[in-house]
Parts: sequence; C-alpha cells; structure tokens
Amino acid sequence: MALRLRVHIQGIVQGVGFRPFVYQLAHRHRLNGYVVNTPRGVEIEIEGAQEALQHFLRELPKTAPPLATITQIDTEELPAADYFNFEIKSSEEGEERAALISPDTATCSDCLRELFDQQDRRYLYPFINCTNCGPRYTIINDIPYDRPKTSMAGFTMCKECSREYYDPMDRRFHAQPNACWSCGPQVWLADAAAEVLGISKPISEAADLLSQGAILAVKGLGGFHLAVDATQKEAVERLRWRKGREEKPLALMSSSLEQIETYAFIGEDERQLLTSSRRPIVIVPRRPGNIIASEVAPRNRYLGVMLPYTPLHHLLLAHPFVALVMTSGNISEEPIAIDNLEAVKRLGDIADYFLFHDRDILLRSDDSVLRIVRARPRQIRRSRGYVPVPIFLRKSVPEVLALGGELKGTICLTKENRAFVGQHIGDLENLETLEFLEQTVDHLQRILEVRPRLLIHDLHPDYLTTQVAEAQDELPTMAVQHHHAHVVSCMAEHGLEGKVLGLALDGTGYGEDGTVWGGEILVADEKNYERVAHFEYVPMPGGAKAIKEPWRMAVAYLWATFGKEIFKDERRLPTRWERDQIEILVQMMQRGLNSPLTSSCGRLFDGVAALAGLRDRIAYEGQAAIELEQCLEQTTEKYRYEFRQVGEKVLLSPTTIFEQVYEDAVSGVGPPLISGKFHQTLIEMFAEVSQYLCKLHGLNRVVCSGGVFQNIFLLENLEEKLAGSGLEVYTPELIPANDACISLGQAVIGAMRLEG
Ligand code: ZN
Ligand code: ZN
Ligand code: FE
Repeated sequence: MALRLRVHIQGIVQGVGFRPFVYQLAHRHRLNGYVVNTPRGVEIEIEGAQEALQHFLRELPKTAPPLATITQIDTEELPAADYFNFEIKSSEEGEERAALISPDTATCSDCLRELFDQQDRRYLYPFINCTNCGPRYTIINDIPYDRPKTSMAGFTMCKECSREYYDPMDRRFHAQPNACWSCGPQVWLADAAAEVLGISKPISEAADLLSQGAILAVKGLGGFHLAVDATQKEAVERLRWRKGREEKPLALMSSSLEQIETYAFIGEDERQLLTSSRRPIVIVPRRPGNIIASEVAPRNRYLGVMLPYTPLHHLLLAHPFVALVMTSGNISEEPIAIDNLEAVKRLGDIADYFLFHDRDILLRSDDSVLRIVRARPRQIRRSRGYVPVPIFLRKSVPEVLALGGELKGTICLTKENRAFVGQHIGDLENLETLEFLEQTVDHLQRILEVRPRLLIHDLHPDYLTTQVAEAQDELPTMAVQHHHAHVVSCMAEHGLEGKVLGLALDGTGYGEDGTVWGGEILVADEKNYERVAHFEYVPMPGGAKAIKEPWRMAVAYLWATFGKEIFKDERRLPTRWERDQIEILVQMMQRGLNSPLTSSCGRLFDGVAALAGLRDRIAYEGQAAIELEQCLEQTTEKYRYEFRQVGEKVLLSPTTIFEQVYEDAVSGVGPPLISGKFHQTLIEMFAEVSQYLCKLHGLNRVVCSGGVFQNIFLLENLEEKLAGSGLEVYTPELIPANDACISLGQAVIGAMRLEG
C-alpha cells in the first residue's frame, strides 16, 4: 500500500542544487510526488512503498549536495494522493525570501577537471561553475535567487548552457551563474590606464608580467586583488610602498598544499581548512629559510596563505609561481575595489596592469582569515565563504539591526533564531567605509527580508555608526556598551543563557563613566551586566595618539608606577626617547590635558612592548602587542601581580607588573624573556581572579572575548588553565574575538531587551 509523506526541510537548501538532488533520489527509489521551494526552505511530498520511503529519508541528509546545510527536517504522514510521477514544481515569486542564501564557494573538483580537459567545451574557461560551486552572495541583487536578479542577468545563455540549466539530471540544473566561452563573461588584460592590451591569452600574458615583477590588479570574486610574485623582493616592496601599507602582513596564494609546504608548516587541521569549499586565508607558521620575500610579512613568524578558489585563480596559478601575493585591492584602510572603472581610478597608481572581467561584483567581500587554536578554527576576519551563513541563536528573537563598533566593522541583522553578521567592512573612519556599511545594510535587509524594529549602536558618542543612528528617525535606537557586546557575542555563538563571568580583554571601548575601558571582567547576561573587575586607570597622554605611539603608554605606566621622579634618572631610561617629549607627556598627565583614563589591557601590552625596546610607534592596529607575542620565549617565571577588592569591585594593578618589567628592562633582560614572563603573569592573574570572582558570584562559566584574545599564547594557556580549575570556558570561534563581533553582541542584547 502506498504511503504519502510531507517533508519540510530548513537550512541552506536553495540555490545549491537541492531540488534536482531530491528529484534524482526520488527517481532512484521509484517514488512519486513533488519538490518545491518555500519561504522556509524546501517542501517535498513523497509517495510510495514504505520501505522505499524509509530509504529515501535515510539517504536524504547523508547524500545532500555539498553546498547544502540542513538545519531541520520535519515529516508528517498524509492520506494517499496517487501521484503518477515526481516533479520539480516552480516556486512562486517572492516565496523563497526567508530561505538561506549560500555563500560564494570555491570551484568544485568536477568543474576543475573540466577546466583542464582539452576535450571539454569549457576548457580553460575562467568562469566555469555548477550548482555545487561558484559565486552566490556577491552576485545577488535581490531574491528569489534567480538569474535575472544576479549580475549574470546581462548574459543570455547559449543553447548548450540552456539545455544544462533546464535538465534536472544535469549538474548545472538551475545553476544561476552557468556560462561558457560563447555566452558568458570574459577576461581581458589592460594597462594602468585601462587601455586593452590582450584578449586572446590574457591570463598567460598576465602571468608573464607577474613573473617579470609587475604589479597586477586582478578582478576576483568579491573584489580586486593586488598581485605580485611573492618571491621577488623588489616587487613586494614596490607594492607595499604604492599601497601605503608599510608592515602589515600580505596574504599569499599558492597552487597546492605541496607548494605551501615548501615555505610554511601546515598541520592536519590547517590542511582541511585550506582545502574546504570556503577557501579562507589560514595563518600558518613560516618555514625558516624559505624562498618567499621577507617583505611579505616583516618580523612575523606566520604567513597568511590560501589556495585558488575561482577558475581564474586556478588558471593564473597554473603558471610556475611558488606563491603570489594576493592582497585586497585598496589603498590602506579603504574598502576593496569592485567596479572596473572605480578600480582604475583607485588602483591606477598602484597597479601596472589590470586583469579585468565583465561579470559585475554586486557586493564586495574580502577574503576571510582564520587560524587554528586548540584544534578549532577561529575567525579573524569573517567574510567571503562564510557570509551570509547565520549564527543560530538559542531562540527566536525580534528583528533588529546592529551597526557594530568602529574598527573592523560589521553589521548584524536578526530574524527568528538566526543572526546574520555581514561581511568585513573595515575601519569606519572615512566616508568610503561608511558608504560600504550602508550598502551592506540595504543589501542584507533586502535579500533576507528583515524589517528591523530597533537600531543598535555603540555607546561611544563620536563613532560614525552612532552618528548614523542618531541622524535617522525611522527606527528607535539603543546604545550598548562595547565590552558587554563582546561578552554577549561569544555567549550567542555558544548558545549560552543566564549569567556568566565575561573576560573582555581588549584595546578600546567607551565606558559608562566616559573613560576608555579594555581590561574588564563583567558578570553579564544577554540583557545586563555588572562591571565586577578591571585594571586600575592610567592616563593615555595624547588620547588616540597614545594608541599609535606605544612609547607614550610606557611613559604613562612609568609615571603611574613611580611618579615623575623616575624621569630624572636619565641612565635608566631608553635613550631613544627624547627628554623634552617625555617632559611634555608628564605635564599633560599631571594637568589632565588630553589624557583620557584607560583600563585597557591592549595598552598594557603596548606599554610593555615599548619599554622592552620592541616598538615605539606602530604601522597597523595591534602591531606592538603582536610583536611582543611573536618574540615570546617560553618560561615558567612570572612577575608578581596584585588585585584587591575595593567596595563592590576588584581592581587589578597594572603598575605592580610594570614596576618589574621596568627593573628587567633596565637590567638588560631582552624582550623575549620579558614577553614570556609578562604573558605568564597575565595568564596566572586572570585565572586566579576568575576563580575568585566565580566563587564570589556563584558562577562556573567564563566567556572570553576582545582583541587581546587574538593572542594565541594567551588564549591557549588561559583557556587551558581555567578549564583545568573546573570552570567551563567559552572562547570565540565562529565570530572573531576582535571588534568584528560587536554587532552580533549588540544585536542579541538589543533583541533580548526589546522582547523583555
Ligand atoms: Zn562546480
Ligand atoms: Zn554557453
Ligand atoms: Fe573591542
């Protein structure tokens, strides 16, 4: 007797070849019925013998297409309907909106085989793709995800491509970006003024130019890259100089894992991450004595590496390069360029040549950056390949929009039990990035169909995002404290409810008392927090300048530790610091002029790095702290530390530590040992104070967030130590520990407060 079932499937099941997969599965088991896209995902009705139905249901999740992610399957039994075939029903306009959209995905192995197969009609075609791979998020203008609503709209499929597109048994059935040599986008080579140079073999010509040391702007998936041969010192230097990027590490792309292994160490976890369909940049240890120019990542033990993820990359890397530098096509902190004309304007002074194509990028998306810590992938920059996959919340919440912080900006939208964190936007310090933020808000709101009821921003009155929130009157607004947002973002990704002890070790965040917070311990839940401990305040002479010039922080900590007398003994101060400059800083601090108070943990790292003689001025955010970690020498020695209960609060003393760092520095102890002892001290101190506070407040869960947790030595060892003392420890994985997580925390806090 025939049985009929209705099956609802939720998750990323649209635009990933799910319906043809169901069609083929039904055929194989001789089942009738239909499959259709619905607002929530996919609905299947299936009719046939009981045993066949069971097989069908068992195989469905196991053999689903590679890009599909099933989050829920619900089944209900219905009376027989006597279907006589199985069909793919077309869905009605507007129906598919609530479904999840797949991120952009690396070229699959089937397409790759065809790409290098001389017999294939797409031999060497730089835009080959199928339902299992290719662009998605960056080419979608609106939903439902159909060709007319993508940047493929202008390309009419040829007969052969159409046949594939409409054949449910074909790998390219409903592959929206489907294209070939005769009907799809094309690549061409141009000079810096956009004058066309070559169209017959643009990619080989581009490869030749690269091997001659040229700088090439390459249009990719989510934006332009600037490329040079990574083994050529002068080329890398020239790129740095022209791009205005003095020291920040540049990412590399190599053709294979074997190539990467010639210059870096990759473990099993890194291997898996590198070859995953998301193809992020992965931070791996550099192999000593390798052929990569040291200018790629000066004074850095690590390199950021990735494998090719578009057919164009595969074709370019098929030429004999050990590695290409592939860095975002932008000037310093501006957003990555995506449009051909815009690229010429913005990158014309940097690139010698352009490798253009005519498939428009509708939304920019930088490469994502991850690293493995304690066997788990950790996001550093979450963008291409991961956006717009949502973070699943522990329950459904009202729809809200959060604008994030200032540095490493992202936005976040909530819908039901999902939080959509947008792609990396950059530092919101100029109008270009602000514009990018607004585009991202529009775009995500449209394709996710979210109608926010609340707009959330940082407590900082001067942030551009705060000004954006205040300048509009469509939505009510809410300000959220920076470190509360940090802690709640980590709670959200781990689905935590109730009160936790939150360790927010960070650079900068505006505090309720108007000072600069950043070494904070909170007792927090999703709505409120209490600040139960923090570093004692020290002044930041010069305000923001003290962040760019860590030697100022060293002077501030010395002043706070010893008073101004310390500066009288010239022999005991680094000679590179100018006397009259120090005098000015002391005057400023004494009079409280332009010297905001801070409890920041990041600034303490800066001060120690400067005093140890590592770095007085930085070229990119966090550089001094990064170099302090990089030079670390393992030791069991540590400095004495102090914290004391003052009323309701515990105050941690930075000066107790700084005093001993100073003694070490003046008695000639080198930076590696100072760094080792300093790290050990922080680990012991935060472990002890966490245990103390957990006991005091009756908690057993510790949640870590904040830019300082990008320090892997600290993250690994503190996590281990806390876990070893019987506490449950939660650290950032899916969302960066840095300020890219602020929007998620804000959104959850806002939504929970709105609801309550
Ligand atoms: Zn493919
Ligand atoms: Zn075609
Ligand atoms: Fe922060």
